Amino acid sequence: MSKFWSKRVQELDPYTPGEQPQDQQYSKLNTNENPYPPSPKAIEAMRNASDENMRLYPDPNCYSLKQAIAEYYALPIEQVFVGNSSDEVLAHTFVALLKHDKPLLYPDISYSFYPCYCKLFGIKAIQIPLAEDFTIEPKDYKQTNGGIIFPNPNAPSGISLSLDKIEEMLKASPDSVIVIDEAYVDFGGDTAVPLIAKYPNLLITQTFSKSRSLAGLRVGFALGQKELIEGLERVKNSFNAYPLDRAALQGAIASIKDKQYFEETCKQIIKTREETTIALEKMGFTVLPSKTNFIFAKPNLTLNKTKAEDLYLKLKEEGILVRYFNTPRINDFLRITIGTPKEMQVFLEKIAILK
Ligand SMILES: *Cc1c(COP(=O)(O)O)cnc(C)c1O
Repeated sequence: MSKFWSKRVQELDPYTPGEQPQDQQYSKLNTNENPYPPSPKAIEAMRNASDENMRLYPDPNCYSLKQAIAEYYALPIEQVFVGNSSDEVLAHTFVALLKHDKPLLYPDISYSFYPCYCKLFGIKAIQIPLAEDFTIEPKDYKQTNGGIIFPNPNAPSGISLSLDKIEEMLKASPDSVIVIDEAYVDFGGDTAVPLIAKYPNLLITQTFSKSRSLAGLRVGFALGQKELIEGLERVKNSFNAYPLDRAALQGAIASIKDKQYFEETCKQIIKTREETTIALEKMGFTVLPSKTNFIFAKPNLTLNKTKAEDLYLKLKEEGILVRYFNTPRINDFLRITIGTPKEMQVFLEKIAILK
């Protein structure tokens, strides 16, 4: 605490990112990074962009990146917003579209950044408990609200919600914006992009950090009807007019154009996820059905003897980082990012001894 801090800052409860240890080489299965490198074409584009033109500001409107994203999703360019990470795009979304007198609704178990934004921007929110099986129940959101946000597939459960259920929610709250955070959708979920034309209250956010192996580049985007995108542009242009640097713009454009590399790496991660799930289930773990690049798994105490938290600590000693949340309802689970087949093999061997 400091007397120099504003009241707002004194009350903040900032987000805690997963560990990024700088001391030793861990097998990093804790922050849902992609185990494969970015598209070689993206790396080349970033190298080429790092030249004498760096003295110049980048395009404030990020026109060519928006164009590439619009083409990829077959949307008009006015329906695309880009930002310096999807966390930043989400921050702008909270201010532009979710801050109202009525409360914002989001699941009790979801992305832990949402409550941070609510505190930062002074947004009232109600957390809606997930069902017993960790699914989102649309009828629980049929209540007065100033907006709704959730990840689909959800994190850290990994569970995907069907498009009919999303439509049911869009219809039930026509006067508020429903934000679908699709950070993990490329690993087997159904994107809500086809619903944009029909629902003016739908905003989708996405990131290059997970399925495009570019967590280090910080590029995210949002898709929705023009009116919503213009709201985001107003906030962005009141905050940082040049959110994406020259290298980030070129890297992201080359990445989204390299469809073949993207599809191959996503497919490989899905395959490794399914194999890891079967192996853990054979050892007695309960694994929630994942459509993401991670799995949420719970040891069976009669079979496995070791609690989730102890497993997390023992794995860390063995050089493998996974994510443990000491939070009610999920403190008996581990969130395990899908790595390469080799990394998962080593992980499974260690788990077999430690459990
Ligand atoms: C990783 C993640 C993000 C943030 O992605 P960045 O673009 O790296 O900021 C947003 N939402 C969810 C649910 C995520 O897991």
